[in-house]
Amino acid sequence: MKQIITRFPPSPTGYLHVGGARTALFNWLYARHTKGRFVLRIEDTDIERSTQASVDAIFEALQWLGIDWDEGPYFQSKRFDVYKKYVQRLIDSGHAYYCTCTPEEIEAMRKRGMAAAGKPRYDGTCRNRKLGPSDGAVVRFKAPQTGNTVIQDVVKGNIVFQNTDIDDFIIQRSDGTPMYNLAVVVDDITMQVNTIIRGDDHVSNTPKQILLYKAFGADVPVFGHVPMVLGNDRARLSKRHGATSVTAYRDMGFLPEAFLNYLVRLGWSHGDQEFFTLDELIEKFSLENIGHSAGVFDMEKLMALNADHIKAAPPEKLTGKLIPFLKNLGIEAEKGPYLESIIKTLNARSKTLVEMAEKARFYFQDVIEYDEKAARKVLKPIAVEPLKELLARFADMDAFTEPLLEDAFRAVMAKTGLKLGKIAQPVRVALTGRTASPGIFEIIEIIGKKKVMTRLEKAIDFIEEKNRE
Ligand code: GLU
Repeated sequence: MKQIITRFPPSPTGYLHVGGARTALFNWLYARHTKGRFVLRIEDTDIERSTQASVDAIFEALQWLGIDWDEGPYFQSKRFDVYKKYVQRLIDSGHAYYCTCTPEEIEAMRKRGMAAAGKPRYDGTCRNRKLGPSDGAVVRFKAPQTGNTVIQDVVKGNIVFQNTDIDDFIIQRSDGTPMYNLAVVVDDITMQVNTIIRGDDHVSNTPKQILLYKAFGADVPVFGHVPMVLGNDRARLSKRHGATSVTAYRDMGFLPEAFLNYLVRLGWSHGDQEFFTLDELIEKFSLENIGHSAGVFDMEKLMALNADHIKAAPPEKLTGKLIPFLKNLGIEAEKGPYLESIIKTLNARSKTLVEMAEKARFYFQDVIEYDEKAARKVLKPIAVEPLKELLARFADMDAFTEPLLEDAFRAVMAKTGLKLGKIAQPVRVALTGRTASPGIFEIIEIIGKKKVMTRLEKAIDFIEEKNRE
C-alpha cells in the first residue's frame, strides 16, 4: 500500500481553534498510525487577514499538544510561482481560460442567476473567446456542464453534486494570485497528500477540488469530512460557549494528553473506552470509527478526563508542568523529589494544574493564613493541649516517618483521651490553613520537622491570643 500522507493547513487569521486542533489531531494520528507522513502548511494567501502573530500562535499550540510534523511548514505566500505554473497548465490543456468580464457584467449575471436558480452563476461569456492574459483578466476553470461529481467520503459516504450546479469558478485573480481551491489542490498534489480529513464546512469546496484534480490528471485523494464541534446548545462551538483557543486550555491547567484525549473523543470512538494514552490513540486510531454526528464540547467531561490523566501521570512528569502555575501564585518551586512528593499527595484530588497549584500553596508558605471558618471551628482552646503534647513528642523525634508519626499521635490520644480526628483537625488547620488536605501524616512528613513545629507553635499562639481578647 502507498504511504499515507496527510496534512494540516491552517489559515493564520487567529489562534488555533479547538475544531482546528481536532482536525490536526486526526490527520496526525492517522499518519502516525499508518507510519505515514504529516505535512504542515500555512495557508496565508489572504495577505490582509494573515498575521505572523497567528502563525506563531498556531505553532505554539501545536507544540503544546505535541503534534509534530514531518514536512513543512510550507507557506502558500511563498509558492505563488508554483500556482501560476499550474494555472498555465490548465490554460494550455483547455481546462481554464482568461475572463475579462467587468464587475458590472458579473453583477448582472449574479442577479440573473439568483432570479433563475437562487444562486449566482457565471454565464460562460468568455469561455470560448480564447482570450490571452491582459490587465484585469482573471482565470476561470472550465467546469463540466453535464454529469456529476461524487465525493467518496470515508466519513459521510458518497456525496453527489450535479455538475450543472458548479459554474466556471475563478482560479486566479486579476492580480495573479491564486484562489483558495486552486492553491489547495496544487499544494496537495505537489506535496503528494493522499488523505484529507477536515471539517465538513469544506464539503462545498470539495467537488470543485475534485474537478481540478481530474483536470490536472492527478489521483483524487481520500476525503473524510468530519462534523463540526458544537457547543452545549448544539450551535457551532464559538466564543460564547467559552474558550475556543487551544492555548487557553493550557493556561487553565489542562494536560496536553488529556486535551488530546478529549478532542479525539469529540468525533471518534473505540467501543466505550474514554481514557486513552497517546500511544493507545496512535495504535487504535482509524478513519472507520470517525463518528457521523457532531461532538458536543462538554467542559465537565474534559475536566473529568483531565483529572484522570493527572492521576495517571508519573509525578516526575508533572513537576515541570506544575512549576509555571506555582509561579503564577508567586511560588518559586524547583523540579526534584520535594515537588514530586507534593504532587503525589495532590494528583488524586486535582482536576487541573491550576487547582493543584492552589492546593500545593501551603507547602511553600512561611506564614499560614487560616481560612476563617476553619480557624473558628477547629482552632479552639480544647486543641491547645493535644497540640502541645504533640510538639513535645515531635521535639524528641529524629525521623518524621509515617509509622513514627502514627505512634506520636497514638500516644497523644492516650494521654488526652481525644479521638484521632480531634487531634488531626487542629494539626491540619495549623499546617495548611484549611480543614481539607491530603493525609495528615503525609503532609507532616513532607513539610518536615522544623516547619511543622513552627506552624504548630503559631497555631497555639493564635488560639491563646484569641482567648485573651
Ligand atoms: N485553510 C483551510 C482552513 O483553515 C483548510 C483547507 C483544507 O483543509 O483544505 O479552513
